[in-house]
Amino acid sequence: SFGDDLGEVKQNVLVIGAGLCGSLLALRLGQRGYNVSVYEMRPDLRKVEISAGRSINLALSDRGFKAMRLAGIEDKVKALCIPMNGRMLHDMEGNTILAPYSGREHEYINSISRGQLNALLLDEAEKHENVKIHFNKKCKSVDFEKTTVSFEDYKTKDEFIEDADIIIATDGAGSAMRQSYFLGKKFLFSFSQDWLTHGYKELSILPAENGGYKTYKNALHIWGRDSFMLIALPNMDGSFTVTLFLSYEEGEYNFNNLTSQEKVVEFFQKYFKDALQLMPNLAEDFFTNPTAPLGTVKCSPWHYKGNTLLMGDAAHAIVPFYGQGMNASFEDVVEFDKVLDAGHQDWESVFKAYEKNRKKDTDAIADLAIDNFHEMKGHVNNVIFREKRNLEMSLEKQFPKDYSSKYSLVTFNEDIGYREAMLRGRAQDKAILNMLTDKELDLNDDLKTNLEKVKTATEEILDDDRVAKNFKH
Ligand code: FAD
Repeated sequence: SFGDDLGEVKQNVLVIGAGLCGSLLALRLGQRGYNVSVYEMRPDLRKVEISAGRSINLALSDRGFKAMRLAGIEDKVKALCIPMNGRMLHDMEGNTILAPYSGREHEYINSISRGQLNALLLDEAEKHENVKIHFNKKCKSVDFEKTTVSFEDYKTKDEFIEDADIIIATDGAGSAMRQSYFLGKKFLFSFSQDWLTHGYKELSILPAENGGYKTYKNALHIWGRDSFMLIALPNMDGSFTVTLFLSYEEGEYNFNNLTSQEKVVEFFQKYFKDALQLMPNLAEDFFTNPTAPLGTVKCSPWHYKGNTLLMGDAAHAIVPFYGQGMNASFEDVVEFDKVLDAGHQDWESVFKAYEKNRKKDTDAIADLAIDNFHEMKGHVNNVIFREKRNLEMSLEKQFPKDYSSKYSLVTFNEDIGYREAMLRGRAQDKAILNMLTDKELDLNDDLKTNLEKVKTATEEILDDDRVAKNFKH
């Protein structure tokens, strides 16, 4: 097939950005025999104490593992993971309920350190002598017609230009190559960036004196308060990374008006009492750590002819509420790898085929992630929502092969794309919520009856959707 060896000549691939996506891509392309040069703006995170940038830990799930398996490093990655079996919901009084993610026990998500995972991917990539990673080299711009990149050395400030057969930019949500597409005005490049009115700030729960965990380890903790929320994910050292999602401007408490230690503590005392007790370091964290915005980036095309391609967050940044940004970026590599196996004759058709297949799915997860923002803040506390979740958990448990909730379809079902998961998942949600509201679903009926009702109603909604779409075109 095209790709691995174009006749005798090994193709030179230049990758911009050695974050999660870029380092996995370099590893995979290295395994396939390409000459890969990776350029990363920051110092080598294995040698220098630097903040991992963005979130300290992340939720890794099945789509991410599928990519790790492709690269042959699933076991090494598993060793870095802390299983989170469900959401631990904390109410205002500090009462908790553990709501499992799935009715199937083997389905859970994992907390992993961004720094450790990135370091592992870099180590594995560098084992291939055809992969070279250059640190402290910042991409300034890309000439996508000449297939060259201009870089600046972070330390010496020297500028230099590199060329390659193809350039793949995995330089994250603020991609320099995407900026070059935009500023170049050489082709019709569509681009949208939508900011949430909420930002986020990372805080921490430190380990207990004896080095253990101060609260339940194997869960993703959520303090949902309708218009804002707090979450916490466990780390290997007994600590939790806590993230506050809060409006910049609206509400009694917001990022703009939380300007004194007293006010921050008052806010936590009122809304996150039990968390506050575990966070004597709150005020210090709050004023040391930055507040950052959250946005969705969609753009197209991702590629310019057969020269350049955007991948990972550079192509599709999403808000973090489905825990899927990294998983989607890893799945990009799996999908790209499939296209390389498909027998295309040139890079342009590889890039085209990849984008055609992939974009519908990354658009879908972007939208699902926004939905989940609202779900996590509020609906998890709502009665009908809980009835729905309980029913779905029982269906998954009793009929593991016949039923998967939207969350399971997105998170644990790596065999269907995000778009299909979204369409089916939304139809199921609508079906169940409608029937619960209209009392057409009796939770005391036997489960088989309820499964059939849900399935029938879901198919009707999916059919209506199809009909509506056909009318449109
Ligand atoms: P990045 O990880 O951003 O890597 C980009 C790399 O490029 C970096 O190393 C950067 O230094 C480098 N770079 C940037 N510009 C240049 C340049 N000009 N020249 C050279 N190098 C450059 N995803 C999940 O799956 N689960 C989660 O639980 C989760 N939680 C999240 C929580 C928060 C608060 C946020 C913000 C995101 C979260 N994500 C999560 C999303 C996840 O962080 C991203 O989707 C993922 O990091 C994308 O990987 P990437 O390699 O495309 O980009």
